[in-house]
Amino acid sequence: MSHTAHRLARLGFAALLWTALCQPLQAQTDRPAEPEPSTGRSDKVLALAQRHMVAAAHPLAVEAGLKMLDAGGSAVDAMIAVQLVLNLVEPQASGLGGGAFLLHYDAARREIRGYDGRETAPAAATATLFMREGKPMQFRDVVTGGRAVGTPGVARLLERAHRRHGKLPWAALFEPAIALAEKGYPMSPRVHQLLLRDQAIAGEAAARKHFLDADGTPKAAGSTMHNPEFAETLRTLQRGGADEFYRGGIARDIVAAVRSHPTNPGMLAPEDLARYEVREVDPLCAPYRSYRVCGMPPSSSGGIAVLQMLGMLSHRDLSAVTPGSAQAIHLLAEAGRLAYADRDRWVADDRFVDVPVAGLLDPAYLAGRARMISDERSLGRAEAGTPPGAHVAHAGDEHEEIAGTSHVAIVDAAGNAVSLTTTIENFFGSRLMVRGFLLNNQLTDFSFNPRQDGRPAANAVAPGKRPRSSMAPTLVFGNNGDLHLVVGSPGGSRIINYVAKTLIATLDWNMDIQSAIALPNAGSRNGPTEIERGTAYAGLAEPLRAMGHEVQLVDMTSGLHGIMRAGKGWQGGADPRREGIAKGR
Ligand code: GLU
Repeated sequence: MSHTAHRLARLGFAALLWTALCQPLQAQTDRPAEPEPSTGRSDKVLALAQRHMVAAAHPLAVEAGLKMLDAGGSAVDAMIAVQLVLNLVEPQASGLGGGAFLLHYDAARREIRGYDGRETAPAAATATLFMREGKPMQFRDVVTGGRAVGTPGVARLLERAHRRHGKLPWAALFEPAIALAEKGYPMSPRVHQLLLRDQAIAGEAAARKHFLDADGTPKAAGSTMHNPEFAETLRTLQRGGADEFYRGGIARDIVAAVRSHPTNPGMLAPEDLARYEVREVDPLCAPYRSYRVCGMPPSSSGGIAVLQMLGMLSHRDLSAVTPGSAQAIHLLAEAGRLAYADRDRWVADDRFVDVPVAGLLDPAYLAGRARMISDERSLGRAEAGTPPGAHVAHAGDEHEEIAGTSHVAIVDAAGNAVSLTTTIENFFGSRLMVRGFLLNNQLTDFSFNPRQDGRPAANAVAPGKRPRSSMAPTLVFGNNGDLHLVVGSPGGSRIINYVAKTLIATLDWNMDIQSAIALPNAGSRNGPTEIERGTAYAGLAEPLRAMGHEVQLVDMTSGLHGIMRAGKGWQGGADPRREGIAKGR
C-alpha cells in the first residue's frame, strides 16, 4: 500500500462514505463560448475482449495500440504508440507539446503508480503573469501565442513510463505514427468542425499552413493529411530519446517560437526544458461500496474531487435511486457543489502550497459535508469547508477550460493497465506549431489573480509550479484486489463530474461501460446545475428548478473512454460524443 494510502487508512478510510461534485466557473476571464460540438453519435456498441483492449479517441490510435499489444507489448508500450498517433490525428487535444497524468497498474506487483507529467511555469514567471494594470487579463487575450505555454511534460512521461513498464523496444513504438505522418491519414470530421469554429489559427503561420487551405478554409474532412515535420520529430526522439526534446534542436525551436511571438511572447527558457522532471506520485485511493477507487493526487484536483464526491454519496443508497431521475441528478449536483467548493479553495500544486489532502478525504469530514445535502432542496452555492489539517486559507479562482484533452484506457494480456489523461489545454492549445506539433496553453489553468478577498490564491502562478488540473484518470479495484475498471475523460473542470457519473453508473447502477459512458451528462461545479443539451435529461429541468436548482442546458462534450472487467475478459466503451472506439482481442 502506498504511503498516502496508509495515511488515509489510518484516518479510517475503511469506513469512508462517498459523494459527488461541483464548482463555480464564473471567472475573471471571459472564455469564448463552448466550441465543442458533440458528434451526436449514439451508434457505439459495447466492445468485448478476452485478452487485451484499448479505448481511445481515434480508431487509428487504437489500432496502433493494439498492434503493440498483439506483438506482446505492455499497456505502456501501447500507450506510447496511441499517444503519438493521437498527436497526429487528434492534434487539437494532446501531444508532445502538452502534459499528461498517468495512473499505471502493475498486475504482477499489484502496484499502482502515478506519473505527473504536468507542464510547469517558466522560472521567469511571476504571480502577475496574467494581470495587467492590476486586473486579470482576458482568457482570449492570452490563449494564443507564447505567454501561457508551460514546459511540456509528455515526452519525459512517455520515456519514464517506458523505462519502468515497457517491454518492446522504444523505437518500435514510434513506427505507426511515423508511417501515418509520412504516408497520410484522413482529416477527421471533428477536427474540421473545430477548425471552422477557431479564429486564432489563421494568425499563426505554421498552424495555418498545416490545417488550412491557401484560401484560409480548413482542409476538408476526409482529405489526406501529411505531417513530414512531425515524422522527423518522431525519428529524432526514436533515435535519441526524450533528451532530444528537452535539450536539442527541438527545445531550441520551442523556446524561439514562444519568446519571439510578435504579440504575446512568453518567457520559456532552455533551462526550463532542460530541468523538466516528471513527478512520480502515490495514487489517492479510498473505498467506495465494495470497491477501491484510485485517482491522481495534486497537481490535479481530479482525484481528490472525484473521491470527495463518492465519499459524500456513499452516505446514500444510490442503488435505490433511479438513474436519470431528478433525485439522481440532484444528489450528483449537490455532492459536486461541495467538492468543487473545496477544490477551488484548497487544491493546487502541493509542492508550492499546503494542500490538506488527507483532511479533504477524511471520512468524518466528508460525513459532515454529506449532511449538508438535503433530499428536497439545492444548497445553491456551497462554501468551502475547513478540513482537518488545513493551515492556510487559500482563496479560489477559477475559469472554464475547454476541449484540448484526450483519455486513453488500456489493459494488456498480463492485466497491467494504463489510465492516461493527456492535454494541450484549449483546443489547438496556444496555436503555436513547432516541428509538426502544437504547444500547450496550460498556464491558463493557473488563477489569473494571485490574490482574492485579501488572501493568496492557492493556484497562483509561481516559477516551476504546475497549474491545477481537473484531469481524473481513475482505476477501480474489486474487493479481491483485482483490477475492475479503467476510466477518464477530457472536458476541462467538468471532467470530475463526467468521471463521477460513470463510476456511479457502473458501480451503483450496474450499467455496462458503454451505457455508463453514453448516459447523459449532468452536474454542478458549484454554479448552476448543468444538464446536457439535446438529451432526455431536458425533462428534468423543471423538477430540478422546483428543488431550487438554477438549471442550464449546455453542451457537455465528455470524451470518456473506459475498460471494465467482464467475466474472464474485458468490456470497453467509447464516448458517443467523440470519434473514439474501444477494441480488443
Ligand atoms: N486543462 C484542463 C485540465 O488540465 C483540461 C482541459 C480539457 O479537458 O479540455 O484540467
